[in-house]
Amino acid sequence: MSGTMNAQQIMAHATSGVAVEVVLETGSTNADLLARASALTAPLLLIAEHQTAGRGRAGRSWLSAPGDSLTFSLAWRFDGGLQRLTGLPLAVGVALAETLGRLGQQVQLKWPNDLLKDGDKLAGILVETAAGSDGATWAIVGIGLNLVMPDELEQRIGRAVAAVPWLARMDRDTLVAALLDGVAAALAQFANEGFAGFAGRWNLLHAYQGQSVTIVDRGEVLHEGLAAGVDDVGRLLLDTAEGRIAIVAGDVSLRPKD
Ligand code: ATP
Repeated sequence: MSGTMNAQQIMAHATSGVAVEVVLETGSTNADLLARASALTAPLLLIAEHQTAGRGRAGRSWLSAPGDSLTFSLAWRFDGGLQRLTGLPLAVGVALAETLGRLGQQVQLKWPNDLLKDGDKLAGILVETAAGSDGATWAIVGIGLNLVMPDELEQRIGRAVAAVPWLARMDRDTLVAALLDGVAAALAQFANEGFAGFAGRWNLLHAYQGQSVTIVDRGEVLHEGLAAGVDDVGRLLLDTAEGRIAIVAGDVSLRPKD
């Protein structure tokens, strides 16, 4: 299989100055960067033409077909411990959605970590972390984005999912460079200001604002109410019969109520 992406071209198109590596095939770009985190000295983007064991939250899997999706991870060093990174997946969602919007593709955000197009899942974000030296933390920001969705893959996923066939026609290296620049800028801003600078932007892109939703954990409904956006640390605000509550992401999922 010959590759369609070129690391030098991506770096040439990007302005963020992040090093880029492209591999033809790997299990999980997040797993690869986690394994390398202790040896990293600068941010690194790792893209796989084909990812065979993509990961989602709570041991779920992310499926993709070679050439039809983007699967990449960005390693970024943050001063300080893990607790500072709450809200990071949401900030990455804002960056991806705004970048796709600039490229002409409107998308929405589903709390905590998904991009939707017309109500179906277009992209997923998985942030994993590794302890660095001097109390620093490496965040490995993994992103899977469907470009086109073959019927066979959609059947394997087992639910309606979205793709962006128009963007799939763009030069792949230019597209990756734009996404890299958008996410890198967000990570730099997040390092300085935390999530506060993203909350308003997230709420503008919220797919379920004012809508009736449930919060589930492995099929069990924990809460239900009207989704009221996120607060300054990225918690979901939910207006329930008992009043407004703030929900921490953890492993819970949001479901629209119909
Ligand atoms: P949910 O999407 O069910 O609310 P989640 O946001 O926690 O859960 P993740 O763990 O982020 O989901 O992603 C894994 C899930 O995404 C899988 O369980 C599967 O349903 C779905 N999925 C897997 N591959 C794709 C894909 N290429 N496109 C869209 N959705 C996918």
